[in-house]
Amino acid sequence: MTTDKMLQFVSTDQQTPAKRAVDRRVEDFREIYDEFSVDGAREQASRCSQCGVPFCQMHCPLHNNIPDWLMLAAEGRLQEAYEVSSATNTFPEICGRICPQDRLCEGNCVIEKGFNSVTIGAVERFVTETAFENGWVEPIPVGPARGQSVGIIGAGPGGLAAAEQLRRRGYDVTVYDRYDRVGGLLIYGIPGFKLEKEVVSRRADRLVEAGISFELNFEVGRDASLAELRARHDAVLIATGVYKARDLQCPGVGLDGIYPALDFLTTSNRQGLGDAVPAFDDGQLNAAGKRVVVIGGGDTAMDCVRTAVRQGATSVQCLYRRDRANMPGSLREVANAEEEGVEFVWLTQPEAFLGGDNNRVSAVRCSEMHLGVADSTGRQTPRKIDGSERDLPADMVIMALGFDPENLPVLLGEPDLEVSRWGTVLVDPRTAMSNLDGVFAAGDIVRGASLVVWAIRDGRDAADSIHRYIQQGAEAPRALAS
Ligand code: FAD
Ligand code: SF4
Ligand code: SF4
Repeated sequence: MTTDKMLQFVSTDQQTPAKRAVDRRVEDFREIYDEFSVDGAREQASRCSQCGVPFCQMHCPLHNNIPDWLMLAAEGRLQEAYEVSSATNTFPEICGRICPQDRLCEGNCVIEKGFNSVTIGAVERFVTETAFENGWVEPIPVGPARGQSVGIIGAGPGGLAAAEQLRRRGYDVTVYDRYDRVGGLLIYGIPGFKLEKEVVSRRADRLVEAGISFELNFEVGRDASLAELRARHDAVLIATGVYKARDLQCPGVGLDGIYPALDFLTTSNRQGLGDAVPAFDDGQLNAAGKRVVVIGGGDTAMDCVRTAVRQGATSVQCLYRRDRANMPGSLREVANAEEEGVEFVWLTQPEAFLGGDNNRVSAVRCSEMHLGVADSTGRQTPRKIDGSERDLPADMVIMALGFDPENLPVLLGEPDLEVSRWGTVLVDPRTAMSNLDGVFAAGDIVRGASLVVWAIRDGRDAADSIHRYIQQGAEAPRALAS
């Protein structure tokens, strides 16, 4: 499929949608990127060279048919572009906003070298937003009622993607979530400047309109056991995500003013959503007027530093024990944070937290590091430089060191559920089924902390397996796969 409108990468430079001016965008939590204009999107889509073997598609976890939708967008056939892109992606406008494209589709675009990649994510977002504006996003088509039901634990992207696919096939679907809103980390983790909350609630509304039931403020393990859900439904999907914050073991770690990243971000998101949040109002989980130090180098750390800036911190520093080239967070987000005034303190590791008489943190004692020989994973190991200790003043410290699964067999009241030594649910990779008959799992609780796009992929795959399982009998998925 080629057209003379394509292959424009030689004559047309890469353009991303304009960013809002820094001094304006740090005053609120709205998204920072503008939408493409129609002409801008067409022009950028036309840079694609329509590869016969599209590496962009191979490196998209959903294997989105990127060249086809780019060509349709370049030709101005936006409704068809939307139909192609939404055939493989449950939430294309969300992925277009928050996928780390530099590590996925765009990072593998063949014209990346020398010419800069096609701006795939921004076109995906534009196409889907245009579809919403023009009423091309039809209600979810619900298949003929089967009289069979699936219970899904977790209303994050993994659970929601599975819910939609199963409803399309005519299953009665109930999603249970311990939170009071639908969206998981899309709503309470990721800040509005990356993903506005209306974008998430628009999707949630569609799922409700399709007849999916949501039991919110419902914690499985407290309000019902996994065994009770298994008795209630023909199959159950565990999509509970990972929420146990990794901690540092060092002197002073228990001082007041030191917080886990997700407490800080959830509080900020709740405040933005208009909830009463005493921990924010009383100044505890509020960076206003404080010198803030964030520890970590991943996407969560980037979200914390940029949230602190918007709350009115007097200074924001990000400590990371490796260097810029070796940090796990998206380089795009690092650049955004730097523009917004965040100082990155590379190759630096905390050794202790110092406090005053009031038991509040007042400084972070840290050491400089150098990168030594590579370990078995190929990453250079950071080594402390003796005698390099110094103190960074801090009124608030946020720990963004990653997440592990909670103890799920205990949490769900199901000691027989098999988990790995890291606590993730063990599933048959061919079927997504756990060791418990009819109990499937998807998203971060299987992979460990990962990405939205992978949770969507897992949720869609799990829905296919659940469908086969219910239709062909309890032993079918394993038999099918073998
Ligand atoms: P979650 O989104 O975690 O949803 C799990 C749901 O299960 C939650 O709603 C939870 O309340 C519910 N639940 C848990 N236990 C129970 C129980 N016992 N009973 C009932 N309900 C329960 N990914 C990206 O691709 N791009 C990004 O920019 C990005 N930024 C991120 C920023 C932050 C701060 C964080 C923390 C993560 C970020 N991620 C990002 C990762 C991404 O959010 C996750 O990979 C994704 O949300 C995982 O989806 P999930 O459905 O598996 O789990
Ligand atoms: Fe790229 Fe993510 Fe869209 Fe796939 S879903 S094409 S990785 S932005
Ligand atoms: Fe187009 Fe780049 Fe994908 Fe090739 S790799 S099809 S040029 S977007």
